[in-house]
Amino acid sequence: MKLQLLPSTFDENGMASPRQHLSCFVVDDAVAIDAGSLAMAASAVQKKQIRDVVLTHAHLDHIAGLPLFIDDLFSSLDAPVCVHALPEIIETLERDIFNWEIYPRFSELENANGAVMRYQPFAVGDEFSVKHLRLKSIAVNHKVSTVGFVVSDGQTKFALSGDTAEIDGFWQILNAEKNLSALLVECAFPNELEELAGVSHHLTPKTLKRELEKFNQKQCLIYVVNIKPMYRDEVVRQLGELEIENLQILEVGQIYEW
Ligand SMILES: [Zn+2]
Repeated sequence: MKLQLLPSTFDENGMASPRQHLSCFVVDDAVAIDAGSLAMAASAVQKKQIRDVVLTHAHLDHIAGLPLFIDDLFSSLDAPVCVHALPEIIETLERDIFNWEIYPRFSELENANGAVMRYQPFAVGDEFSVKHLRLKSIAVNHKVSTVGFVVSDGQTKFALSGDTAEIDGFWQILNAEKNLSALLVECAFPNELEELAGVSHHLTPKTLKRELEKFNQKQCLIYVVNIKPMYRDEVVRQLGELEIENLQILEVGQIYEW
């Protein structure tokens, strides 16, 4: 299975910066998990192949590229883009984004081939298929309804926490999964902003280390994601000091294969 974090932010030379504002993970060039930078950074092949977008939650950094992605493809789509999300997230998107004020309600529009966007709701705890993948949604602890996922292609499996603070149920479910190859876990703020992390339901290096003590799949590679761009250097430094086994930072644009 192939996974790539699409870039979203540029340095002073116009090159992709490791300081990421937006979150969008593309699996096998065919399925997007979150859509932060989907329109802005998907390759031509990805734009042609991605017709399924799975959302962890509706915060802007995770959905910003979705309206623009459908807009770009509007006239060329021969099948609708399917947005897989919790019912309350779909409600939020329709009310606050695709409401004709912020952007068109694509779910009501058609091109010459038919519908251009549709929703596929799932519930917390559901297992469902998206293309060749099987996903299991798991509740996590964020300020709004949010899920993480276990994603399997039948041979390899990885897990993604989404945005979250301290959680127990998530680890219990992951501990019961066999042969998890990789875990993508958030760590938004540095230790000195623990209070802000608390009120906004995110992790710091210190709280992440405590969380990982609940995770018993010691062979699993751990990749940190969703670091707030302004605090990236500090978070990376503090994570390094903790010397957590198998832990690295997920690099922007790099293709990971498990
Ligand atoms: Zn969030």
